[in-house]
Amino acid sequence: MSEAIAYINDQYVPASEAKVSILEPTFTKSDVVYDTISATDRSIFRLEDHLDRFENSCKVMQITPPYTRSEISTIVANCIDRTGLDDTCTTIMGTRGPYKDISSRDPRNCSNGLIVLSVPYYYVIPKERAKNGINLSIVENKRVPAESVDARVKNFNWMDLTRGLLESYDKGGDSALLCTPDGKLSEGPGFNVWLAKNGTLKTPKGNLLEGITRRTVFELAAEIGIKTIETDIYPDELREADEAFTTTTAGALASVVEIDSKPLGNGAPGLLTSQLSELYWKKRKDGWYGTHVDDLLEQ
Ligand code: PLP
Repeated sequence: MSEAIAYINDQYVPASEAKVSILEPTFTKSDVVYDTISATDRSIFRLEDHLDRFENSCKVMQITPPYTRSEISTIVANCIDRTGLDDTCTTIMGTRGPYKDISSRDPRNCSNGLIVLSVPYYYVIPKERAKNGINLSIVENKRVPAESVDARVKNFNWMDLTRGLLESYDKGGDSALLCTPDGKLSEGPGFNVWLAKNGTLKTPKGNLLEGITRRTVFELAAEIGIKTIETDIYPDELREADEAFTTTTAGALASVVEIDSKPLGNGAPGLLTSQLSELYWKKRKDGWYGTHVDDLLEQ
């Protein structure tokens, strides 16, 4: 039988047994950086790119997990292996950890930790919705500005994203797209966004997580000769696009067919989106950017 597996306090345990203390700022202050990696057929996609981003997040927040990069890779492989599953999502968390002295609130006075969690592969946007296309709400709730929280540092401070998601559900949407305080498109709760107009792909730049799937789409588009632009985008440009899609590790590309409950383009999943999505999955099946779990376990 397969199940979610965690690595915590130097041990592999069923995820249901992995616990974080309520005394830790990890919990009380969401003082955690993380990264989420997917594996299909036990082949981990772009492991080194995810580890680069994770290391940068740790560096910015001055969190030093007590393991080397190569030890983290081995822990990731072991967690995936122990789930018994072919397709997984694995989250690596660098935690602030417990205060060494409980009477202190100084984040420097903490023993930083590492938690790794492997679960069955999941979809940020439910698979069936993604296939038929989703209704994306451009919500009123704004993305926290970069001057306050740097979205490139992947973190658990999700109040803006969660408020956006709830606002979208209240409006009958499938998910939310948040704007920056000055009204430019940013990203959604767990994904980046793209639009296509007259055969060119555009994605927002600025305060957003520079997604690994987003990076992958730049490469796939180049391969099929599609021009890509990373630029400031305002909501009306998205509303007038021919097609749009979201990108994320957990679910890859999802078509957007409505914006604020109004049809986008011809109201059906776009051809370019489908082409990129098929190419993404085909190349992954062929092992593109893959690191096999067994190869890591053998090292
Ligand atoms: N934006 C946010 C806020 C995210 O949480 C995520 C992924 O979890 C993404 C974008 C997409 O990033 P990636 O493609 O690396 O999964």
